[in-house]
Amino acid sequence: MGKAGIRNLVIVGGGTAGWMAAAALSKVFGTQSYAITLIESDEIGTVGVGEATIPTIQEFNTLLEIDENQFMKETNASFKLGIRFLNWKHEGSDYFHPFGTYGVDMNVNFTHYWMRYHLAGGSGDFGLFNPQTLASRLNRFGRMAEINPKAPKVNYAFHFDASLYAKFLRRHSEARGVVRHEGKITSVVQHPDDGDITCVALESGKTIEGDLFIDCSGFRGLLIEQTLKTGYEDWSQWLPCNRAVAVPCDKVSGLTPYTTSTAREAGWQWRIPLQHRTGNGYVFCDSYLSEDQAMDLILQRLDGRPQADPRVIRFTTGHRKKQWNRNVIAMGLASGFLEPLESTSIYLVQEAIMKLLRYFPRDQITESARSSFNRDMLFAYDDVKDFLIAHYKVTERAETPFWAYCKHMDVPDSLRARLESFERHNQSLVKADELFKEASWFAVLAGQGLMPKSYHPIADLIAEDEFRWRMDRVKEGTAGLANAMPGHEAYIAKACPSL
Ligand code: FAD
Repeated sequence: MGKAGIRNLVIVGGGTAGWMAAAALSKVFGTQSYAITLIESDEIGTVGVGEATIPTIQEFNTLLEIDENQFMKETNASFKLGIRFLNWKHEGSDYFHPFGTYGVDMNVNFTHYWMRYHLAGGSGDFGLFNPQTLASRLNRFGRMAEINPKAPKVNYAFHFDASLYAKFLRRHSEARGVVRHEGKITSVVQHPDDGDITCVALESGKTIEGDLFIDCSGFRGLLIEQTLKTGYEDWSQWLPCNRAVAVPCDKVSGLTPYTTSTAREAGWQWRIPLQHRTGNGYVFCDSYLSEDQAMDLILQRLDGRPQADPRVIRFTTGHRKKQWNRNVIAMGLASGFLEPLESTSIYLVQEAIMKLLRYFPRDQITESARSSFNRDMLFAYDDVKDFLIAHYKVTERAETPFWAYCKHMDVPDSLRARLESFERHNQSLVKADELFKEASWFAVLAGQGLMPKSYHPIADLIAEDEFRWRMDRVKEGTAGLANAMPGHEAYIAKACPSL
């Protein structure tokens, strides 16, 4: 690190992570206090996937003061209300994990009231109490603020074209003074005393000095791993998928306002609808299926004409032992990888950016900033990890060697405790800062076939007639929200068609 203090911020990598970091840092700090440089290599390119998000991205857009319709037009985006999971409990099963809660919480989570309702003979379809689920079934979407400003907000996220998103953020960043260099970094120089990185050299011979480096170089982790040898915590024993084959195909009509995740023989397949095409991928474990087999299978299972040959992406689930090591902060794939089952990677990039802004070392890097950042990011990784593992563990599927392994594998103690508590009395032990709240745990665990045996006694405190009346009103209100929305495709055509 330049011992005179922090002045030069160098972002290595121009994928989603690099440009998100550049856009946020230049927006918050401008380039008066800090010079912000981003280096990317056209020859290496980006990972080219990562197109489904979760609602937290709206906060990121707000931070950048992005016009949402403009962003959607420029990235060929569609809206996302949640994820539809097919075949996860057993072949033919179908459930929805929505972005939002069920019903109205009254002292305890609404799902306890739903359980009372259901055990007394009410419908077993808890989706009737969630507007995102109902709207998805109807293929509808509209922003509630425009339809009925008095109605509760119906939360949403986006599907977008990752390369167009990087381009969009690049324009924002460069307009705020971020300097971009194109070229391959061929060597990295460390300070002889403390090992901090002082500069990187490009193939062209150009050198770029920095005080704080943000490593967004993708899976290779050019600075955090190849240079600093930070080490990797491998979570493959719980999340064994280590390959994806990705292939875009022509879009079909009926643009769905959700991602579809379909369980397959050795993993699962994603389907992400965009305005101009559909993204598809098969995430699998190569101990149970070869890359060639996976490519054949995904091509057979597309609902549109393939637009390219399937591309194989190899990964190991887990994370760098430190996300911030010396004067290098890893973000995106350089920091670790959790498979895209709940679309959490871009969220983790956003988390890393927000934590960096929170602990930003205005002049000198301090050990307390570094360790606070590392603690918070490891927490974020850890809680997403348990949620993902639950999808594999809680299932009736065991008909292929892959699913038999998942069903019978040991899970982390933290998850085991949650599953037991959930099954006993619908308490999923969610911590205050966790990303996935009780409604998400309920959607996934109940959807995968784990129904709690009892519910909280608070849900019994309302008299029966009053209870029935309230449940009927909640159900009607939920249906009303979904029915008020226009068709998803029609809404996009009007509000934010691709350019
Ligand atoms: P990359 O896109 O790989 O970018 C790396 C950058 O570093 C590039 O610009 C490259 O040129 C540059 N670089 C590398 N080495 C050098 C060098 N020597 N010199 C100069 N430049 C260099 N996330 C989600 O949130 N939702 C999803 O649905 C989702 N799906 C995914 C599916 C799969 C199969 C995978 C693998 C990931 C998915 N992700 C998803 C994750 C998401 O793709 C990434 O988090 C996101 O794209 C960020 O990637 P990145 O910027 O870290 O890396």
